[in-house]
Amino acid sequence: MEKHVRQYVDDFMAGIIAKNPGEKEFHQAVHEVIESLAPYILENPVLAKMKVLERIAEPERVVMFRVPWLNDKGEIEINRGYRVQMNSAIGPYKGGLRFHASVNLSILKFLAFEQVFKNSLTTLPMGGGKGGSDFNPKGKSDNEVMKFCQSFMTELQRHVGQDTDVPAGDIGVGGREIGFLFGQYKRLRNEFTGTLTGKGLGWGGSPLRPEATGYGVCYFAQEMLATKGESFKGKTVAISGSGNVAQYAAQKATLLGGKVVTLSDSSGYIYDPEGIDAEKLEYVLELKNIFRGRIKEYAERYPAATYYEGQRPWSVKCDIALPCATQNEVSGEEAKMLVANGCICVAEGANMPSTPEAIKAYQDHKILYAPGKAANAGGVATSGLEMTQNSERLLWTAEEVDNKLHSIMRNIHEACVKYGTEPDGYINYVKGANIAGFMKVANAMLAQGC
Ligand code: GLU
Repeated sequence: MEKHVRQYVDDFMAGIIAKNPGEKEFHQAVHEVIESLAPYILENPVLAKMKVLERIAEPERVVMFRVPWLNDKGEIEINRGYRVQMNSAIGPYKGGLRFHASVNLSILKFLAFEQVFKNSLTTLPMGGGKGGSDFNPKGKSDNEVMKFCQSFMTELQRHVGQDTDVPAGDIGVGGREIGFLFGQYKRLRNEFTGTLTGKGLGWGGSPLRPEATGYGVCYFAQEMLATKGESFKGKTVAISGSGNVAQYAAQKATLLGGKVVTLSDSSGYIYDPEGIDAEKLEYVLELKNIFRGRIKEYAERYPAATYYEGQRPWSVKCDIALPCATQNEVSGEEAKMLVANGCICVAEGANMPSTPEAIKAYQDHKILYAPGKAANAGGVATSGLEMTQNSERLLWTAEEVDNKLHSIMRNIHEACVKYGTEPDGYINYVKGANIAGFMKVANAMLAQGC
């Protein structure tokens, strides 16, 4: 990197760190973006002069609130709720809610920041936001989850709306939680609108929304592989996570001819050298979504599989890796291991799962690597399609939604190739996604003067 560009990046980051002390995940997400945008911004002085990226890195609004609720023992519990309304230049704020013990402002600001670029890439009119709570749904009864969701929405409802801010799910927020949140929103506002996405199919949800993120990751990976004349056929696939994204990524990867050999949760991972086929995946879906069990039970049920307590799946031999668990789940060392073991393609189903050191390892070895904001955009894109169907008061078929999702993922890939291809032909998907996502938002902000 040229000296004046490096200086610009360093000064920019010094400003971000001074303004947002201690928010390390947020710093990481901004740093990744400024690293790839700096040369572009310096070539277009109006962007630097108008401080467009500085503005994008400052949330338009942050709401923090108390969420008191009664547990099954009749005791009061108090959690903290948040909604980060990051950017509304191209549409209403849009992004998920995360319920996890680790949730704090830094994590939600990083997620909201990423969401701005991701949503822009989908080509749909959605701004970026994110919210959630440090509430931990693990081990809570349905009744407790309902009480919590009702209390959470009692405050959140005054800040959201179908034309203002449309939340959805993320880690810890699935169909059950969206149902409870939607029910409370409806009661308090007396309106049946598309204010939340990820709703049930019978009450305003879109076909394929649960599948969309995982399917989209595989569609995107298919495009990446095609640039090398490759496909999923006959490839070994390592997937982390076992929630909604991982489940449907595994299903699609298998349908496309790949052999999925791992899944994981926060306690460990399972390795099944015979492959997690459709029948075994059906078991995983039931285990996780109905019984809310742990992935280790898979190895008890299928003896061909081994459970590795406290470890992540990145030491297994694979051709394709799909990190679908959480942020910073692939270290530099693990990325080097993936590359050394022959991995040719990493597509992120989670948000920022690769550390900066991991990204460097992929790129140094010039393997195919796509960041979450491009590869996992299929989820929020299908949320956008749910919003459209709600506005039209229509329901499309699964086939229609799948076709639209597929073409959105192809378009995002094309945009990444257009803006990310280096002089030596290597496709830098990070750069491509950042520039393509940024341009639309930047132009809208300049046009609107805010
Ligand atoms: N939480 C998902 C994401 O990270 C989906 C958000 C949405 O559908 O609004 O993109």
